[in-house]
Amino acid sequence: MRDVIIVGGGPAGLNAALILGRCRRNVLLCDAGHPRNAVTPRSWGVFTRDGTPPLELRAQAEADLARYPTVERREAEITRAERRDDGFSVLLADGTRETTRKLILATGLHQALPSVEGFEDYWGHGVHSCPYCDGYENRDRPLVVYAHGQAAKGMALELTVWSDDVTLCTDAHPTDLSEHDRKRLGRHGVRIVETPIRRLEGDGRQPQRIRFTDGSALPCHAVFLMPMPCDPSDLITQLGCDLTHKGVVPTGEYETTNVPGLFVAGDASRRVQFAVVAAAEGAMAAFAANTELLREDVA
Ligand SMILES: Cc1cc2nc3c(=O)[nH]c(=O)nc-3n(C[C@H](O)[C@H](O)[C@H](O)COP(=O)(O)OP(=O)(O)OC[C@H]3O[C@@H](n4cnc5c(N)ncnc54)[C@H](O)[C@@H]3O)c2cc1C
Repeated sequence: MRDVIIVGGGPAGLNAALILGRCRRNVLLCDAGHPRNAVTPRSWGVFTRDGTPPLELRAQAEADLARYPTVERREAEITRAERRDDGFSVLLADGTRETTRKLILATGLHQALPSVEGFEDYWGHGVHSCPYCDGYENRDRPLVVYAHGQAAKGMALELTVWSDDVTLCTDAHPTDLSEHDRKRLGRHGVRIVETPIRRLEGDGRQPQRIRFTDGSALPCHAVFLMPMPCDPSDLITQLGCDLTHKGVVPTGEYETTNVPGLFVAGDASRRVQFAVVAAAEGAMAAFAANTELLREDVA
């Protein structure tokens, strides 16, 4: 039986493995190899590594793990997980079964893009989800906020930190904007366009304009998408984790969950979605898992 199995080898899972390796814990880290940020050329806002390609960060973290002989890393998807009296049992896609005393899920998240032609083509290269990650590189350019419902006002105002040329496009979806909100957006220079979008057009490398169904066009250097609902990992639902309405796990201070012995770190838990935060959450989960193991062993 392993001390800890970690599912997911992004910043959260890799940093959890690093800390647990240094605690000489018997760790299995399984990663299916589909990092969500692989589409983006650079990871911004990463402590001491600002602008490093995300796959380079991953490769360095994997190389660091090689120093710790009690950590085994496997390229494998975990397809099932269940609780047992003494911990957890997981099933790998190749049919192998492994058991563990503690389980850390660092599976990231899956978000579908809005079904607008062109969004998929420019995802990570002009279509972004996080202004903290990609606002700076698009500063002072014509920016489009694709948002509706309750998210629209806040997201549009947020983008004024990076540009005074911001247009909120609702794509004809309903919004909750009151007259007061509209005036406030106008006061801060945010235009509102409620015409349906036909597609995002560009030169293949960079978006250039939003084309609307009435034929009109809006210059656009980058699109920032409102937060989209997430599909939680099947493992999270199989284990009976609580979920927020956004589809992420409401973890406690040390990434604990409502399921004893189970920790959820990184984008799959509820805090902000930055690489350094995911790595920090992985460290917290590792600390907590090691502390629980120690308490059990020295009782
Ligand atoms: C386009 C884009 C650009 C971004 N830019 C930035 C940026 O500039 N700066 C920044 O700080 N943040 C950025 N982010 C956010 C950042 O990438 C995430 O916050 C961070 O990667 C989250 O780390 P994680 O370990 O939680 O999940 P991930 O990095 O998503 O890793 C999860 C891993 O778990 C694996 N996995 C999932 N399910 C299973 C399973 N059942 N079995 C085995 N493995 C599994 C996946 O294959 C994946 O490799 C960006 C995100 C995106 C999508």
